[in-house]
Amino acid sequence: MKTEIIAIEGTTPGTRIELVALHFGEAGSGPKAYIQAGLHANEAPGLLAAHHLRERLTALEAAGGITGEIVLVPAANPLGFAQHVQGSHHGRFALGDGINFNRNFPFLVDIVAERAGHALGHDAARNRDVIRAALRAAISQVPCIRPAEYLKRGLLSLAIDADTVLDLHCDGEAEMHLYTLPSQAEAFQPLSRLLGARAVLTSTESGDYPFDEAISRLWVELARRFPDRPVPEASIACTVELRGEADVGHGLAAADAEAIIGFLAARGHLANAPQALPPALCEPTPLEGTEALSAPMAGLIVYHRQVGDWISTGDIVVEIVDPMDGHVVPVRATTEGRLFARAGDRFAYAGKRLGKIAGKIPFRTGKLLSP
Ligand SMILES: [Zn+2]
Repeated sequence: MKTEIIAIEGTTPGTRIELVALHFGEAGSGPKAYIQAGLHANEAPGLLAAHHLRERLTALEAAGGITGEIVLVPAANPLGFAQHVQGSHHGRFALGDGINFNRNFPFLVDIVAERAGHALGHDAARNRDVIRAALRAAISQVPCIRPAEYLKRGLLSLAIDADTVLDLHCDGEAEMHLYTLPSQAEAFQPLSRLLGARAVLTSTESGDYPFDEAISRLWVELARRFPDRPVPEASIACTVELRGEADVGHGLAAADAEAIIGFLAARGHLANAPQALPPALCEPTPLEGTEALSAPMAGLIVYHRQVGDWISTGDIVVEIVDPMDGHVVPVRATTEGRLFARAGDRFAYAGKRLGKIAGKIPFRTGKLLSP
């Protein structure tokens, strides 16, 4: 295992932060996988799963069990790690500018199309290599000023040429669920089954350029721009939501790491034969059909329904209680499906996201992810 340190310039003189990437196996000797945890720095389940993955990958490498290269970034957001303010940890947004750490990743389609489009031929594998060379060159030239921009460029430079990409997150209170492109749901079915996912949410574009789509969606977009040239979906990427923020324990994390190891084997990243898959616990549903319940006013959050409940249209899922004037406002579902996530705290501001229901019928458009 080789350790790579990427320096991130701080905002003030004398500050410099280090991003740590662990490289297992041999680069260029086979397929490449990339796994990161803690891009939202206060989401502990992925960070602990990465700790267990480090141990498993170290053992697999010693046994010659890695067919290509696997890159693990066990703590992807050292900037967010440091954002403690008066006793609270803020790991989702950069405190300096309020931008979500998992949004606004560089989307390199235009620059790669311009530089590599003329070189594309009729061999899909060669086109993949041409595009990847252009991607590696392009990411190194992305301009950066703010620390979060250095961080995003550093992470993307590690992952941009990987065949398989996993971004480990968690929700407030939640069941295991995944986000990916509709065209890649099939490829991630082994992961979904091994992890026991209860929702797989797919969208061709969820909005605001999250990390996974900055890698996966550019292949889809390049194929659209060059319809007379074969452009494969060479990189598959997925956001894995490892339950809720308090679901942190060695038992869960070790099992999740083992599921990811099983998926890496299924994808050909490991020398050992893939294991038999458990049955799927859900079918993919459109992210456009996921109802994001929001608070109509500020107040206390009182849930009527549990994570994992089946919700029917019209059901009261949660109430908002205003303790000042005594108002109690029910929040009803407008779709039916499984309630797979709820908020992690019990105070609502007006507009706060309160829960997510995996509905089957698309009805949302525009930006589909939580702020
Ligand atoms: Zn997250």
